[in-house]
Amino acid sequence: MIQAPKSNELFLRAQNSIPGGVNSPVRAFRAVGGNPRFMVSAKGPYMYDEDGNRYMDLINSWGPMILGHAADVVNEAVKKAIPNSLSFGAPTRKEIEIAELIVSMVPSIEKVRMVNSGTEATMSAIRVARGYTGRDKIIKFEGCYHGHGDSFLIAAGSGAITLGVPDSPGVTKGTANDTLTAPYNNLKAVQTLVEANKGQVAAIILEPVAGNMGLVTPADGFLQGLRDLCDKEGIVLIFDEVMTGFRLSPGGAQQLYGVTPDLSTLGKIIGGGMPVGAYGGKKEIMDYVAPAGPVYQAGTLSGNPIAMSAGMAMLTYLNDHPEVYTQLEQTTLKMVEGMQANMQKLGLNFTINRIGSMFSIFFTDQPVYDFESAKNSDTAFFGRYFNAMLQRGIYLAPSQYEALFVSTAISEELVAQYIQANYESLQQALQ
Ligand code: PLP
Repeated sequence: MIQAPKSNELFLRAQNSIPGGVNSPVRAFRAVGGNPRFMVSAKGPYMYDEDGNRYMDLINSWGPMILGHAADVVNEAVKKAIPNSLSFGAPTRKEIEIAELIVSMVPSIEKVRMVNSGTEATMSAIRVARGYTGRDKIIKFEGCYHGHGDSFLIAAGSGAITLGVPDSPGVTKGTANDTLTAPYNNLKAVQTLVEANKGQVAAIILEPVAGNMGLVTPADGFLQGLRDLCDKEGIVLIFDEVMTGFRLSPGGAQQLYGVTPDLSTLGKIIGGGMPVGAYGGKKEIMDYVAPAGPVYQAGTLSGNPIAMSAGMAMLTYLNDHPEVYTQLEQTTLKMVEGMQANMQKLGLNFTINRIGSMFSIFFTDQPVYDFESAKNSDTAFFGRYFNAMLQRGIYLAPSQYEALFVSTAISEELVAQYIQANYESLQQALQ
């Protein structure tokens, strides 16, 4: 049994000086019970906590560490950049190089602006879409997460055609009124919303593969249907590829599905583990961004040289090694097949959604294609399963409504260990 007395002690101490003891809510383990583990170091597939316990990591910092932790190629680039100063606040050659690389990799991007997080990227993208179209409203999908910008913290009301209500105190009704919500994978609901708000919708924003209600893939024709609708109505289509960018393919979900948005938002892998985000797209729209155009957006540390060095090393590696994606797909497939066999053996009939190196297990026998159907999952069972896996040294996302991310550091041997732990943990959770 893994014991974590130092983590427990630190968690108590943290709560005196940090709200809830953590700097991002899900880390507090509230959805699964138990205390979070305080990490000290990580290398390859493993993270090590304050008590010296080792965990096989299936979150990988919520996506960025696609090559495993402390990848030499990224670390060396950072080490090389550090002596030249941590920040200039003036332009650098590296910013052009990474912009050119992103433009060459991501189909929709002709121009790109670097920011410091996925949240900044999505907030900025809708501002540009509003500036460009002269319209105020946006459509987002129930269960999609686009960071913590006010406009995105809106839950759907009952049914597709309801106006948004704030999901969090502090979001004004005025802001909520400008965010319309529709169920994921429901093109008809979007068409109805657009019809009811004719000429007022600036942007439709979505995760082209949703990872924030657990993993949910787009139904056949959903992305193309949105593309066609946006073309017809002069609406800016934004793919939030903060999770999927550089993960599902070198050009993200848009390359995989062959549907090109007007704007894309990026984060996570783009910084190789450093705090980086980006938004980009059609020249015509991006030229609305200051100082080329009137839509203001800025950042003291945007394009930071250390962050750009990490990101550049990561993206260059992925661009030069497309075989990474085949390897990741094969590894993840083996894990999923192993889990399916385990569940059959145990007489369980759960739903696993997977694409590339992202997957989620839902504890329901129903298909999961939107937030409503994701909510069928037995979250109490998930909590028991999560903790049973943690006891076996496997670190999963501490919530049902998250995707897992596989890294290239997961070897065949680790896949076998994972499948065995999955079997034992399911058995334990069933008791
Ligand atoms: N968009 C998506 C799809 C995300 O998954 C996330 C974070 O998980 C964000 C935006 C926000 O990114 P950040 O946490 O870097 O602000």
